[in-house]
Amino acid sequence: MDSRLPLLVARIAFAAALAAVAWTSLLPPDDVPSAFGFSDKVLHLAGYAVLGALAVLSGLRWPVAIGAVVGWGLVLEVAQGLLGYRSFEWLDLLADAIGAAAGVLITARIVAEVNTRRAVRAQDAKRERRRQRRERARTPENPMNPARAAARRGAPTWQQVAQRRGGKCWLCGTRTYPEDRIRAKDGRERLGATYPEVDYVLAIESGGTYEDDNVRLAHRHCAATRRAKPHLTTFGRPPRTYV
Ligand SMILES: [Zn+2]
Repeated sequence: MDSRLPLLVARIAFAAALAAVAWTSLLPPDDVPSAFGFSDKVLHLAGYAVLGALAVLSGLRWPVAIGAVVGWGLVLEVAQGLLGYRSFEWLDLLADAIGAAAGVLITARIVAEVNTRRAVRAQDAKRERRRQRRERARTPENPMNPARAAARRGAPTWQQVAQRRGGKCWLCGTRTYPEDRIRAKDGRERLGATYPEVDYVLAIESGGTYEDDNVRLAHRHCAATRRAKPHLTTFGRPPRTYV
């Protein structure tokens, strides 16, 4: 659906309502449909509340909307004063202003609330799409899976490194834990801080190779710490994240 259509409809309705209010305001008193059974002031309140609501829905910001609708009321009261058969009444104008303010503020509040919820929903949907994309990339069948891509380039698996060099982390000297997998609440599995990971003495990005003497085994936590703080020379045993 065209998202501009509701705005267009609101603007047409606003223009029509402005004309209708002018029409009923400027008719001779005898022709005014007074059979509603309401007081004159209640009609002013209700009519200008509707005008205020339509002004906001037409895209006006609330101060502009109040100014425009109350200004219209002032113009019509002045016109009534000039016409002769109706009169300028401050009380009418007061009722117009109260109605307009109520209509504008309530509608602006509702519009803001609706917009906020819509934005939150859109953000949630976007996050979910991103998560699904990540999830698809992580499947072993995906040729773009980072682990598979690295293996194609010749990267060893941590199992191969562990077989050659033992299961200890070369950074902190304590053993790694292949059982350190965390079952998250959403049912997916995450690797813990002490799970083994292949680490490179000289990073591949910096020209390091997949040769045996450049390859080490490290805790995920220790390898990540080393990447983040290359100047660090001592590493503590990582916190246990498994039970
Ligand atoms: Zn370690």
